[in-house]
Amino acid sequence: METSTTGTSPTPSSPVVGRFAPTPSGRMHLGNALAALLAWLGARSAGGRILLRIEDLDPRAADPEAARLILEDLAWLGLDWDAGPTFQSERRQLYAGAVSALHDADLTYPCFCTRGELHAASAPHASDGTYVYQGTCRDLSADEVAAKARRRTPACRLAVPAPGDPAGIVHVHDLVFGDLSEDLGRDCGDFLVQRSDGVTAYQLAVTLDDALMGVTQVVRGRDLMGSAARQTWLRATLARLGAVPAGAAAPPEFAHVPLLVAPDGRRLSKREHDLDLGAIRARGVPAPRVVGRLAACVGLAEAREDVMPDELLARFSWEVVRAHRGDVTVREGFLG
Ligand code: GLU
Repeated sequence: METSTTGTSPTPSSPVVGRFAPTPSGRMHLGNALAALLAWLGARSAGGRILLRIEDLDPRAADPEAARLILEDLAWLGLDWDAGPTFQSERRQLYAGAVSALHDADLTYPCFCTRGELHAASAPHASDGTYVYQGTCRDLSADEVAAKARRRTPACRLAVPAPGDPAGIVHVHDLVFGDLSEDLGRDCGDFLVQRSDGVTAYQLAVTLDDALMGVTQVVRGRDLMGSAARQTWLRATLARLGAVPAGAAAPPEFAHVPLLVAPDGRRLSKREHDLDLGAIRARGVPAPRVVGRLAACVGLAEAREDVMPDELLARFSWEVVRAHRGDVTVREGFLG
């Protein structure tokens, strides 16, 4: 993805609707908390609303206890929400309906590629380290599909416009990283809307939900920046097919926020249990300390300032975050 920072933020004409969209695969870590804090500040500082959606679609990854603790940790951090929690696991019919609409429009095809085949046959994705699908299953004949289907349940893949086709060149405005553009055919390739185990793919579920819930501002970790173009294009496509209201065709504003990384450069993940909110709270670290250190990462607080989210509202702006958008290394004593 090419990026430039010359763009200015568009003034949203409608009230901001933001969201928290955690995957309940474990306790929130500091990086999740930073994204949640900025999602809340982005919406609340603009007088907007914020929704909570629990992304528990994958039964192997989702843990109801983790979902409960996420709600509790958000509240402990001083972050509230106006609607939800909505559970994606209760919306499978909606996702199936959208996949059908894409199928009926002849935009999908069954994909039988295994993970190993995908890696062997794919070119690296320019922006997020995933792989550009090379269209291996795109033109299978009906006989080939029938023969392969006897051996393997296919995934369902969405055909994007060919490389260079203007219909597949997507421009995204990111409030932190500026203007981004991606040629879907070249930079991304056809992407999954349903996995071979029947679970709705992330891109489809998140795009449909953001459109149906009227989300106008998506704030999340920089690791998901490479999804913005796909989601922008898919949202417009779903609107064109009538799978979401025409009024929901416009993309949300995106704000991809810095990642917190361990001293060895790895992104913090839910595996770093000593930096999850369970461990932090068990050590007796107070919420204003956590919020203050996170806010300091993006220029919204002084180095040792303890502060709660509502005290940050007056000083929050995306310009400040933009000026502090480098990933942050979390060292020993970060919460000191
Ligand atoms: N559920 C995703 C996560 O927890 C975030 C999805 C999104 O914000 O688009 O990483």
